[in-house]
Amino acid sequence: MSANRVYNFAPGPSMLPLPVLEQAAAEMTNCRGAGMSVMEMSHRGKAFLEIFEETKTNLKHLLKIPDTHEVVFMQGGATLQFSAVPMNLIGKTGKADYAVTGNFSNIAMKEAKKYGDIHIACSSEDKNHTYIPTQEDISIRADAAYFHYCCNNTIFGTEWKYVPETGGIPLVCDMSSNILSVPVDVSKYALIYAGAQKNMAPAGVTVVIVDKSIVGNEHPLTPKLMSYKLMVESDSMNNTPPCYTIYMLGLVLKWLYTQGGVEGMAKIKTEKAKILYDVLDDSEMFIGCAEKASRSDMNVTFRTNSAELDEKFVKEAKQAGFDSLKGHRSVGGMRASIYNAMPIEGAQGLATFMRDFEAKNR
Ligand SMILES: *Cc1c(COP(=O)(O)O)cnc(C)c1O
Repeated sequence: MSANRVYNFAPGPSMLPLPVLEQAAAEMTNCRGAGMSVMEMSHRGKAFLEIFEETKTNLKHLLKIPDTHEVVFMQGGATLQFSAVPMNLIGKTGKADYAVTGNFSNIAMKEAKKYGDIHIACSSEDKNHTYIPTQEDISIRADAAYFHYCCNNTIFGTEWKYVPETGGIPLVCDMSSNILSVPVDVSKYALIYAGAQKNMAPAGVTVVIVDKSIVGNEHPLTPKLMSYKLMVESDSMNNTPPCYTIYMLGLVLKWLYTQGGVEGMAKIKTEKAKILYDVLDDSEMFIGCAEKASRSDMNVTFRTNSAELDEKFVKEAKQAGFDSLKGHRSVGGMRASIYNAMPIEGAQGLATFMRDFEAKNR
């Protein structure tokens, strides 16, 4: 890590790999000999189309996306997908089922209610979303058009350790905060979406991976930029796509290859998470917020028994170069987001800081 950078534990927007930022800086005024920045290029010109194709190809390769599925780049964040999903997929039955395991899945469920009959297939609200329901807890209606869940709950720090079995009901997943951290069997999903600013790129692009066989049944009033059918048909180019963010995603994907791809990332993230969870398990001061079996490898939520001590921790950690550790207001305490771009040294450094803090404040 260069001397003037901090370890940024923010939940999103979040850290980007330093080599990526350095390459972007080097190419800022003249990208690949074009004599201009990517921000200045025509989205239909050769130079940008090369970047676009390369990014899409690498994403398909890294996530082993089968030919049945297409990648489209959309805008409006993951939040716009909360509306796009029901508009495109709820279809004639007008029924969809949702797992509510945190803040974002709850917002997604509420948004879907505008478009049809929504059933909560399972919920962890009874214990303030500190756990992930088991397969036995999930009840999906036989005539649901799809089942939606969020596989990593960014705010509460819980992560699904299994892919829910839906009995043939199309599976839709919000992977905003753990995409590219772990291999995924894309063929199991009708739709995967993820805002970029947690684990992929700067804010501005949403990656949507869609099974081509499910597009084309959208509600007639679906805005055209939210139609998966049109996005697939126009190869994300119905209007100007978020060119620079797509370019940044491309750089991040190239960096991912240097880390051993998604499989390599999965090893590293497991190691980073273990470093921090080991501190929590050894500690008499820090308490993990999530149940052990449901802990997220991306967002580590913890607290002490005192709000004043939490505040002191966040403040002193920041002074020591461990930035943005304050937890979300609905959980309190602290949250260390350790996405792909967080170097292992960042997790190690924070672990040492936590042990020292405990020794000093006992
Ligand atoms: C951050 C986040 C969102 C919201 O993303 P936006 O891009 O801000 O719309 C949705 N779902 C999950 C899981 C998130 O972490």
